[in-house]
Amino acid sequence: MLVVMKAQATAEQIQAVCDHIETLGYRAHPMPGAQRTAIGITGNQGEVDRGNIEELPGVAEVIRVSKPYKLASRDVKEEDTVIRFPGTDATIGGRNLAIVAGPCSIESREQAFAIAEQVAVAGAQFFRGGAYKPRTSPYAFQGLGVDALKIMAEIRDRFGLRIITEAIDNETLELVAEWADVVQIGARNMQNFSLLKHAGRLRMPVLLKRGLSATLDEFLMAAEYIMSEGNYEVILCERGVRTFADHTRNTLDLSIVPAVQRLSHLPILVDPSHGTGKRDKVLPMARAAVAVGADGILVEVHNQPEKALSDGPQSIYPDQFALMMDEIEQIAPIVHRKLPRGIHIETAEAESHVAKTK
Ligand code: PEP
Ligand code: MN
Repeated sequence: MLVVMKAQATAEQIQAVCDHIETLGYRAHPMPGAQRTAIGITGNQGEVDRGNIEELPGVAEVIRVSKPYKLASRDVKEEDTVIRFPGTDATIGGRNLAIVAGPCSIESREQAFAIAEQVAVAGAQFFRGGAYKPRTSPYAFQGLGVDALKIMAEIRDRFGLRIITEAIDNETLELVAEWADVVQIGARNMQNFSLLKHAGRLRMPVLLKRGLSATLDEFLMAAEYIMSEGNYEVILCERGVRTFADHTRNTLDLSIVPAVQRLSHLPILVDPSHGTGKRDKVLPMARAAVAVGADGILVEVHNQPEKALSDGPQSIYPDQFALMMDEIEQIAPIVHRKLPRGIHIETAEAESHVAKTK
């Protein structure tokens, strides 16, 4: 159920409707839009008892949402969600492309700093790096844990890059939330409902990767789990699915981008690294991802991929990343997008981290 407020409804009227919904035993999710605020109602088992919601001051109409996902749906919020990073000009969603780059895993301070410097110079705004790795083998490198989180916090201080890193369970979620700017939930955890609910209780952006065999509905329902707990800052990420094709590690399903964008207001990034598993296929698929209308790219970059402790074969070299940036910059305007170069931090001295890295 969705309560659509009148365009001129006051903040007090919106609050009064939310309070009323909560007294009925449901949960109210106010979603401010450009034209008007809509209030999603969740927590109901069956049909919501409309009571006298329609009669409350400021209410335009009460409508049923037929989709299984509600808060993630465009029915509830028509315009695209744009996630902002306070104190910076970085965004995910909206006109500017968001570029997330960095190694699969943080392996050492030297490795992480060397890569961070190069992706910052090439103009990335976000740095990725695994501190906790969900590896297929228990004997494979599992990540440096908190030490890696601290290294990434230093990278944020030094280069201004906002940090995205994965939490693999409820325990690591708390630590990642403390140190990072965006919490990543990996493909293997897309239907870890306990983890999704815990991530929904955070008040920071969550990047949700598509499960290895998840349908579009399952993907959006996973996002809905997070949003149903009150965290509306969800970023989707297509990273390839399992198919019979064996020329790539996964099959990058780019057609999910327009499919998601039709149904949902949430931003969607594309990960051509896990999506192909092969370095030589990353750049062409990154170009295609921008052309298809993705809100950005998440890509693995390594300065010595042949020595990488995880995902070396799919990690591109820093100079290939710089080339990727140049090429997608040219494609962006064709799809009404812009590639921002570097992140600007609002400090007292109006210091620019772009300048610092040059
Ligand atoms: C990663 O981003 O390094 C990762 C493990 O991704 P995924 O969950 O998509 O496999
Ligand atoms: Mn990886």
